[in-house]
Amino acid sequence: SIRTRFAPSPTGMFHVGGARSALFNWALAQQSPGGRMVLRVEDTDAARNKPEWTDGIVRAMSWLGISAEDPAFEGPYFQSEYAGKHRETAQELHTKGRAYYCDCTREQVQERRDNPNLGYDGFCRDRGLEPGPGRALRFRVPDEGPTVVDDRIRGRVEFDHASIEDFVIARADGSPLFVLANVVDDVEMRITHVIRGEEHLSNTPKQQLLWEALGLQPPVWAHLPVIVNEQRKKLSKRRDKVALESYQEEGFLPEAMVNYLMLLGWAPGDDREIMPWSEMVPLFDIADVNSSSAFFDEKKLRAFNGDYIRSLETADFIERCEPWVTMTGEEAPWPPENFDRDVFAQVAPLAQSRVAVLSEIVPNVDFLFLDEPETEEKSWKKAMKPGIGTPMLEAALERFSDESLSWETDTLKAATEEAGAELGLKLGKAQAPVRVAVTGRTVGLPLFESLELLGRERTVARVASALA
Ligand code: GLU
Repeated sequence: SIRTRFAPSPTGMFHVGGARSALFNWALAQQSPGGRMVLRVEDTDAARNKPEWTDGIVRAMSWLGISAEDPAFEGPYFQSEYAGKHRETAQELHTKGRAYYCDCTREQVQERRDNPNLGYDGFCRDRGLEPGPGRALRFRVPDEGPTVVDDRIRGRVEFDHASIEDFVIARADGSPLFVLANVVDDVEMRITHVIRGEEHLSNTPKQQLLWEALGLQPPVWAHLPVIVNEQRKKLSKRRDKVALESYQEEGFLPEAMVNYLMLLGWAPGDDREIMPWSEMVPLFDIADVNSSSAFFDEKKLRAFNGDYIRSLETADFIERCEPWVTMTGEEAPWPPENFDRDVFAQVAPLAQSRVAVLSEIVPNVDFLFLDEPETEEKSWKKAMKPGIGTPMLEAALERFSDESLSWETDTLKAATEEAGAELGLKLGKAQAPVRVAVTGRTVGLPLFESLELLGRERTVARVASALA
């Protein structure tokens, strides 16, 4: 059965490109009976690896729904634990005559070459050096012919052997290089499909040669197109927001994220885009992945996320907002003791249709939980037009403080409408000063529902203080 793998190097945050690779591998493993996706942490670069990065990757994967709870998941394995096997395989290649020891320094190689781009010149090929200090092990690339990589996405890609140098597979200290360790692990883990980023395509002919030298059938290769930003530049962690964690913190739903990431190079067909994971899995076919670069469109992702949020059951939406609305400490948007679960449950449905990401819940509902919401300068100027703002607030204050006005959405609306009409204002214009007085902003949730929830006392106090 099919065995795929996801093989991150834990040298940084888990980013959207890695997440897409993981999901494609995961879909393929899940759709095939008995299929598995192995998580292999390629932690051999001791200087750059950190255990936190590994934890972050595992956490982010499980946020996306890829976790050991699913029978299709295997691992995690750590590449560093297989060092013995890597060395053994390097020896095997030497014994078979497919690799040789080389004591050339970089300077020596460069001196012999007029063109520095040409790489190693094969000087030690036939010197029959024994292993020893300062001697690296190089793979003997066949003289004749090309290596043809049959890539599921890009078709046949030919690499002329003349352009592949005798590459190092083990350093002078015996430690294996990525090209070798990666193959040995794939062999050991009986990987059938290697699906990874396009940046690895140049390694693939070398790795295919290694598989063949070991007398094995290479796996199916598939190299995913690069992901680019709005300027059509390859996504980079310096320029772009790429860490999955930052999307999680902003309140993207994992199911929206998964759905969107799957569309980076692939489409389920029939013009359908929004589709739950369970429906995408059986439709996924690596051969349908487009070979041209995929645009990571954050605006579209946001729109997607808004759609997903709107389709949640209200109770579910409320629960998912929990981390933002119950925050404590310096990050807390309002004093935690001010938060009222019942009030939030009432306001949440009004906000659900208006937020694109869950963190937007806070500025929508904060007026209910802050003692005195801050007033945005710009909003104030916009709403409190001379000759309109103050008289409107005075008229509203008079009506709102009248105990005979029942405090409900409809009556509040009627009262505001009336007050506005006396000043010759349509409702839209009339409610702006009230909104800014009460919430500090010119945009927000439906005003009269908001006032009902806020209550007479606080509404009146805020309008009065705006007039003061
Ligand atoms: N550790 C490699 C990387 O992070 C994985 C290469 C592969 O998937 O074969 O890019």
